[in-house]
Amino acid sequence: MKLVRHGARGREKPGLIDAQGKLRDLSAHCATIGWAELSPAGIKRLGRIDPATLPLVKGKPRLGVPLTGISKIVGVGLNYRAHAKETGAAIPAEPVLFMKATSAINGPFDPIVLPRGSVRTDWEAELGLVIGRTTRYASEQQALDHLAGYVTCHDVSERDFQKNRGGTWDKGKGCDTFAPLGPWLVTRDEVPDPQALRVWCEVNGEKRQDSNTADMIFPVVFLVSYISQFMTLNPGDVICTGTPSGVGMGMRPPQFLKAGDVVRLGVEGLGEQCQKVVAE
Ligand code: ZN
Repeated sequence: MKLVRHGARGREKPGLIDAQGKLRDLSAHCATIGWAELSPAGIKRLGRIDPATLPLVKGKPRLGVPLTGISKIVGVGLNYRAHAKETGAAIPAEPVLFMKATSAINGPFDPIVLPRGSVRTDWEAELGLVIGRTTRYASEQQALDHLAGYVTCHDVSERDFQKNRGGTWDKGKGCDTFAPLGPWLVTRDEVPDPQALRVWCEVNGEKRQDSNTADMIFPVVFLVSYISQFMTLNPGDVICTGTPSGVGMGMRPPQFLKAGDVVRLGVEGLGEQCQKVVAE
């Protein structure tokens, strides 16, 4: 299933994208796409609904973040070899983890707002994992059973805040609008191999990132297991699995986002995002 939330910000309704690519409304069956719907039982219940019985949604409504109830977003840094190299960092022996503030969550087509004082806001297209059930000390063998599905995520990053302002990376990762998620939450059954997905990004129509999750240093099952040794992952939590090479700070000379730029990005099978960059 491709689950979505459609409508104005704060008033989104649940829906799904059917096999013909049409948006259908799920309001008769659930109030949102949240913890209950993302649980194994919830996904099974929604999966039994014949999409043809759901009303088509007229027009082209805004698509919001495809789920609610995200208690945290865990980011993974430097998880692609070529990206670690372009940033001048060593290949990590263990995953680099950081937190993205939930206040940064943004719709996949809503504008990215440059924070005050930003001169180095950068793009990062990523595969996002959505947790489906409480996950603590999970083994790699159990890891996929704990996922509800996958989502395209944009780990927007202010490099100066991230690297030059002291302490951890979090200052540059959690600014408002820096976590576009969606457009679809694609359930696990539709992604047979999460390590074989193209990940790409373009800025103003120019290709910047074009890689594949096959190039991850730490694969999805390892990441879920690893993170769950340090914290409980709740249903609805999102893991951003790291970005491939081709970010602005790796360009010669470096390039960063400015007001008026348009960023498009996607992960194979999970749908595309498009954001206009605006000043605060
Ligand atoms: Zn990232």
